[in-house]
Amino acid sequence: MTVGSYAVRLDAVSKVHGSGRNQVRALDGVTAAFLRGTFTAVMGPSGSGKSTFLNCVAGLDRPTSGRVMLGDTEVSGRSETELTELRRDRIGFVFQAYNLLGALTVADNVTLPVRLAEKPVDRQRLARVLAEVGLTELRDRRPSRLSGGQQQRVAIARALINRPDLVCADEPTGALDSRTGGDVLALLRKLVDDLGQTVLMVTHDPVAAAHADTVVFLADGRLAGELDRPCAEQIAERMTHLGEP
Ligand code: ADP
Ligand code: MG
Repeated sequence: MTVGSYAVRLDAVSKVHGSGRNQVRALDGVTAAFLRGTFTAVMGPSGSGKSTFLNCVAGLDRPTSGRVMLGDTEVSGRSETELTELRRDRIGFVFQAYNLLGALTVADNVTLPVRLAEKPVDRQRLARVLAEVGLTELRDRRPSRLSGGQQQRVAIARALINRPDLVCADEPTGALDSRTGGDVLALLRKLVDDLGQTVLMVTHDPVAAAHADTVVFLADGRLAGELDRPCAEQIAERMTHLGEP
């Protein structure tokens, strides 16, 4: 396997939040690599470092030490301006709270990353992405007139518009009922299977994690094993024993 086939690599990544007596070591020497075209779920109890992990990978947060590579590009140790461009051009984000702009239509929310980069909007690309997430008919609506699941699909379309090297999702189904959440997870699965996207998803829900190819576990900021193609029951079982010696 050549290095180039990894979408993301972390080498001894640590992150300390805060300073002085309030210091928290949220990540403690994490080394991991994720192949292109795979769907990985990151699981662990609340406070285990999942969001910090994703934020360090995606350039939203800077590791205190260690190295993060996105393909052949080092994410760690870049300036704020460089990170802003890297996130905009090469990473798609999906959050629990959708983070759509209420004043913009579906189509304008989806093309926002393109317009922020001051690039022309490719109408064909927009049409294709809207079709992929099943929102063609709703392209002129505003988010307030969409269901939660539809809003999350807008966020996924926005994440895809720039053909990112990586899609990062932090609890993408956290605000959805189980059926709608299932639709969103099936869509993330489809991005990997049909479009060859690489997806890294943080979740605390074993049913959500079971949609991934691989589940990696975090406990107290450290990797605590992984499971390949597990079912939800296996994941739940592992979760109950996390952190045990
Ligand atoms: P998770 O997403 O698994 O719940 P987080 O990565 O959010 O975990 O947090 C890991 C640890 O780091 C927790 O103890 C949390 O309180 C702490 N932490 C996270 N972000 C900050 C921050 N900005 N400042 C101080 N502590 C933080
Ligand atoms: Mg979190």
